[in-house]
Amino acid sequence: MSVECPGCGLRTQRFMDLCRNDGYKLWPSDEMASAAFKAWRDADPTRAAASRFDLEVPVERIDVSVDYAARAHELGIHLFPIVPSSNYLFIICIGALFLGLAAIPFSGTVRIALLVIGGLIFLYGVVGWVLVEDVRMFPADSPQTHGEVHH
Ligand SMILES: [Zn+2]
Repeated sequence: MSVECPGCGLRTQRFMDLCRNDGYKLWPSDEMASAAFKAWRDADPTRAAASRFDLEVPVERIDVSVDYAARAHELGIHLFPIVPSSNYLFIICIGALFLGLAAIPFSGTVRIALLVIGGLIFLYGVVGWVLVEDVRMFPADSPQTHGEVHH
């Protein structure tokens, strides 16, 4: 569906009358380009979804309800969970909740207490999440570098 423009040498739409790059006139008129496109499209049922503006004939819509996890398993690819099912994320949320409560104008001591509690819980969650979960999830990263480091 694309053609090399004689004017600029870049790929452009086959059935547009003007080159999209430099406006080189590929067809004498837009009507002729359109008629040529319709003739070309009707010649083959697989081209029914094609548009004059496409550079490629659109491929059949793939089934989007593919189970990618199962597919990856077939192919032997291990997908890392995008959101780690981590308790630490929950702890971080609790910590953030306390920090949020500390923003409410209670009396001074209550706010400081909430701030300290929230901060500690939050830090515990972040440390646990970053250090513990990360090491557990990506253990393969270190052994490869170990050999070189210990030389
Ligand atoms: Zn051109």
